[in-house]
Amino acid sequence: MLTKIIQEEQIQKAKRYIDKGNNFLLIAHVAPDGDALGASLGLFHYLNTCGKEKVSVVVPNSFPAYYRWMPGAKDIVIHERYPDFAEQLIHEADVIFCLDFNEPKRVGKLSEHLTAAKGRKILIDHHLHPADFCRVTISYPEMSSTSEMIFRFICRMGMYEAIGKSAAECIYTGMMTDTGAFTYNSNHPEIYLIISQLLKKGIDKDLIYRRVHQVYSESRLRLMGYALNEKMKVYPKQHTALITLTQEELLHFQYTTGDTEGFVNLPLSIAGVDFSAFIREDPDCVKISLRSVGDFPCNEFAGRYFNGGGHKNASGGEFFGTPADAVNVFEKALKELGPDKRIR
Ligand code: 5GP
Ligand code: MN
Repeated sequence: MLTKIIQEEQIQKAKRYIDKGNNFLLIAHVAPDGDALGASLGLFHYLNTCGKEKVSVVVPNSFPAYYRWMPGAKDIVIHERYPDFAEQLIHEADVIFCLDFNEPKRVGKLSEHLTAAKGRKILIDHHLHPADFCRVTISYPEMSSTSEMIFRFICRMGMYEAIGKSAAECIYTGMMTDTGAFTYNSNHPEIYLIISQLLKKGIDKDLIYRRVHQVYSESRLRLMGYALNEKMKVYPKQHTALITLTQEELLHFQYTTGDTEGFVNLPLSIAGVDFSAFIREDPDCVKISLRSVGDFPCNEFAGRYFNGGGHKNASGGEFFGTPADAVNVFEKALKELGPDKRIR
C-alpha cells in the first residue's frame, strides 16, 4: 500500500475535471526528457483507457530518437513543427494537464498560449516553487519523477486497473530516466513498490533500459571520447569539472538531439568531483546542464548565474553569448559559490 502523498482534495478536484472533460491537452516542457514524455504518455494512455476520445500530447520541440519507441510517441504534436495545429489544440482543450514543469516559461514559445488558454489547468510536477497558474497544483518536489506522481495520481482515483501495459511502460521510462536508472534521487522504498506493480502490468524493464541507453550512434560515442579527452576541465580545489562543446564541434560529430544526454554525469565518476557542468552551444542559445552529488544545490547556482533552475542535484539554465563567455561566467560563479565555499 502506497502512502497517500497527494492531498485528497486535489485528487477529487482533478478527478471531477477528468470526469466532466471531453477534450484533453497534455503539455510538457521544452527539450522533453524521459520523464516529461513518460508522464504525458502515461496519462494519455490512461485517459484513452477511460474512454476519453480527444486526448492530445503537445511538446514545444523535438525529443531524442531513443524515446520514439514509447507507445503513443508518434502521435505527439511538436509545436516547432506544427505551430498552428499545436496552438489550436491548446485553445480548444477544456482540460489541460501541465506535466513536469513548474512555470509557463518552461514551455518556451507556447507559454503565452498556455497562459491564455481557457481550459481548466491541472499541474502535476516535482520541481520546486510551482508558479500559481493552474486551478489545481499537485507539486511534490520530493518525488523521483512526475511519472511516479502520475502512477500515484491514477491509483488514488481508484483506477489502478485502468493502467495498461503501454501506460506502465511510459511511467517506468520516466521514473528510470529521472533517477539515472535508479542511481540518484531513488532511495524512497515506495519507488520499488511501484516498479513491482508496473512489472505486474507486463513491462520488460531490462528492454526499456536497452531501448533508452543502448541505442546510440557510433559518432555519439566518439563525441563522448572527444569531450572527455579534449574538452573536460577539472577544478580540483572546487571539486568541480566542466565540459564545453561548441556548435562546430557538435557538427563535426554529426550531432543530433539527445547525443550529449548523460555527458554531464560522466565527470562525477572522478573521486573528489561532486559538481559537474556541461556547456553546449545550441543554434539559439548556450545551454547549461549542472549535476551534483551530495548537498551542493546546483539549482541555486543555475538560478543565480544562468537564469535557470531545477532540482538540488540536477539543474540547468541558458546563457546568451558565446560559449567562452559562458565559461567565464561559470568560473567566476565557481569562485563565489562553488562547492568549496560550503562546509564539507
Ligand atoms: P538537463 O540538464 O537534463 O537539461 O536538465 C536537468 C534539470 O534542470 C531539468 O529536469 C530541469 O528541472 C532543470 N532545467 C534545465 N534547464 C532549465 C532551464 O533553462 N530553466 C529551468 N528553470 N530549469 C531547467
Ligand atoms: Mn522530471
